[in-house]
Formats: sequence, structure tokens, C-alpha cells
Amino acid sequence: MDEECIKRAAQMILESIQVVALTGAGISVESGIPDFRSPGGLWTKYDPLLYGTYEGFVNHPERFWEMAKELNPTLENAEPNPAHYALAELERLGKLRAVITQNIDHLHQRAGSTDVLELHGTHRTGHCMACKRVFTLEEMKELSCDGDRVACCPDDQATIKPDVVFFGEPLDSRVLARAAELASTSDVMLVVGCSLEVYPAAALPEYTKRRRGKLIFVNTTATNHDRQADLVCLGKAGEVVPAIVSEYKKAAGLI
Ligand code: NAD
Repeated sequence: MDEECIKRAAQMILESIQVVALTGAGISVESGIPDFRSPGGLWTKYDPLLYGTYEGFVNHPERFWEMAKELNPTLENAEPNPAHYALAELERLGKLRAVITQNIDHLHQRAGSTDVLELHGTHRTGHCMACKRVFTLEEMKELSCDGDRVACCPDDQATIKPDVVFFGEPLDSRVLARAAELASTSDVMLVVGCSLEVYPAAALPEYTKRRRGKLIFVNTTATNHDRQADLVCLGKAGEVVPAIVSEYKKAAGLI
């Protein structure tokens, strides 16, 4: 871990008025949930064009539900890691306004963050594509037709779509508008475990930058967007983020 980077990140947070976090799949890797693009990530096993697009889901929902059967236990058994807890602590300290996340795993909320914007929805609910009835994860697991392969609505037998945002699907406009507002009015954005390859989330750091805000990136590997950042701290989120928060507390005289 680069101690100098940690100190500089803590200092930027100390000098800021409004901090917001943007998190991606990388923050949950240490909780046992693989990301998409790293070696061994989900996309190496599941072709994004077949499994990750809205069109792919509509034409072949059984593919998604097969993948979900394999992935749901991983999501359900995952526990928040020190990076999730450190961001929750930064919120409790009154320094972090909100977490904008691309993740669907609910780990920020479980770690204690109270203001979490789920840009890409959640795996915990779904709805009937015909009548819009809402189902919990437990219900979705019970409800299946097509020889146990596709979750479907008991009222009209239509496919149940999980409330995750597929490629080719619009994001919830209210969530996106609030994320854009937070990004544009924060003077530090802490970007954790994000390759910044997925839009519109990847555009949010630019909003902070345009208002002369500072960007701190925490990733295990370099991204194609590191030039945007004022500071790039390479390392595991579960180590780097708690170290930044601890250093901030020291610098702020809180410990
Ligand atoms: P990504 O897979 O494109 O990139 C992950 C990034 O995290 C990379 O930059 C990598 O260097 C970094 N990383 C990996 N392990 C890390 C660690 N231990 N600590 C710090 N950084 C680490 O992920 P993305 O940019 O978030 O975008 C992919 C999409 O995947 C998102 O839309 C998201 O919805 C979805 N997704 C979510 C989950 C989840 O909910 N946990 C899991 C997989 C994918």
C-alpha cells in the first residue's frame, strides 16, 4: 500500500466540504463477488452479449435465470468487507454525503451506509414483465415455469425480470438525476473498484471535475481513465479505503 497516497487522499478529504463515493464491482471482490472484467471475472464465463443485454434477456430469459441460479448463493452469502464499513463510517462522521454504486449486491446498506444510490438496480427484487407485480428474491426462486428454468408470474405466466439494469436498458431517471446532482456539487469524489467503462456511471467523475472537484481512484489495476484522477491509489479496496478513513480521522483530530 502506498502510504503517501493514503495521506494525500486523507488530506483531500479533510480539506473538502462535500465528499461523494462512486463504487463498482471491485469494492465487493474481497467479499467474494467476482467483478466483470478482471481475469476470472464474470464476463470470462458469461458472454455479456448473451447474458448481460436487455434484448438477450427478453429473447432467452432462461439463460439469465440459469446464471442467477449459480450466482445467487454467492450474492446471498457475501458479507460487507472493510471497504464497505469504512465508507459507512465516513458517512457517520458527517463527511460522506452518499454512495453512488453500480453494484446490485446491497453490501453498502448492510455495512451501515444509509444513503445509497443503486444506479444499476438490485438483485433482491423483480417484477412481472406483463402486469408489473413485484416479487422478492425468495419468491422469484420459488416461482418458475419452463421446466424450472425461468421465473414467471403466477398471475399471467409472463417472465419475471429482476430489477437489475441490463445493458441497453435505461437507468432510473430519478436515481441518475440525483447521482449527477451529487457528483456536480461535491468537491471530492472517491471512486472505488470501478473500471469506468460502463456509461452513464462512468461520466459522473467528469461532473465533479468540471466544478473543479478532486478525484481519488482506488483500484487494484490501472484504468483507461486514470489521467482524469488527481490521485490514483493502487491496492485492494478493503485495505486502502479503511486506511484513508483512518488517516482522515487522525488528520481531523478525531482519534
Ligand atoms: P469492472 O468489472 O468493470 O471493474 C472492476 C474494477 O475494480 C477494476 O478497475 C479493477 O481494477 C478493480 N478491482 C478489482 N478488485 C479490486 C479490489 N479488491 N479492490 C479495489 N479494486 C478492485 O466493474 P465496474 O466498473 O463496476 O462495472 C461493471 C458492472 O458490473 C457494473 O455495471 C455493475 O453493475 C456490475 N457488477 C456488479 C457486481 C456487484 O454487485 N458486486 C459484480 C459484478 C458486476
